[in-house]
Amino acid sequence: MPALEGKVALVTGGSRGIGAAIALRLAQDGADVAITYEKSRDRADETVSRIGELGRKAIAIQADSADAAAVTAAMNQAASALGGLDILVNNAGIFPAGTIDTLSLADIDRTLAVNVRSVFVAVQAALAHLGEGGRIITIGSTLADRVSGPGMSAYAASKAALGGLTRALARDLGPRGIGAVLVAPGPTDTDMNPADGPHAQRVLALSAVGRHAEPADIAATVAHVAGPGGRFITGSTITVDGGTNA
Ligand code: NDP
Repeated sequence: MPALEGKVALVTGGSRGIGAAIALRLAQDGADVAITYEKSRDRADETVSRIGELGRKAIAIQADSADAAAVTAAMNQAASALGGLDILVNNAGIFPAGTIDTLSLADIDRTLAVNVRSVFVAVQAALAHLGEGGRIITIGSTLADRVSGPGMSAYAASKAALGGLTRALARDLGPRGIGAVLVAPGPTDTDMNPADGPHAQRVLALSAVGRHAEPADIAATVAHVAGPGGRFITGSTITVDGGTNA
């Protein structure tokens, strides 16, 4: 029997990049999957139809992660459409590039709302549905621990906050049998950080393996944590970075 047979997952930001790869991988492992997106309806529909081809149920829900009411409604809609919720993957994120003297208050507010506050809100909403064995997996970043160049203050601050949040969730939810884990990717080839983009050479200078991860590499770790192999992992950060922070 597939490892996630009978499970329901919700992946925020599942229309593209790492989130789409996670949604597909969880479906390959047997889960039915809801995804959220902000703008890319076509890409979200594409992910849903690829999951359908795997024989699993899937829905896409438009929900801006900065909008707490929309995030809560998405969680409830997913649970009602797919028959519950077992795995929440907080993946949606933004990267506002700019040095500290160029970023605005609006930049830091939006970054914290999408990258951090949305996780807090999503977890609160998910708790109405998650039971014993539930998993909360959040996508952080190696930039939380090592900032490899200028222009990343808002992003690094937001990703560093997720480590504390995850450790606190593990303490709050351990007694309920719900795990919380942060998966911290290094450079991964997506629209946010293309392997052929203008910053690729600088980004890869620190990599031990000399290349970007593929989104499927991050999804493989999320699938492990979501599955039986992850049942005793909680409060931890798992780095998936090809040795970038080594
Ligand atoms: P992409 O920019 O390729 O994709 C971002 C995804 O998040 C899209 O599905 C997008 O939806 C969604 N999203 C963005 N803003 C919102 C919002 N306000 N509300 C709802 N959904 C939103 O990014 P990646 O796949 O590269 O990144 C995914 C996660 O991984 C992020 O948290 C990122 O910080 C993290 N990460 C990425 C790394 C990398 O090198 N790529 C490295 C380390 C961490 P839509 O399509 O509708 O815009």
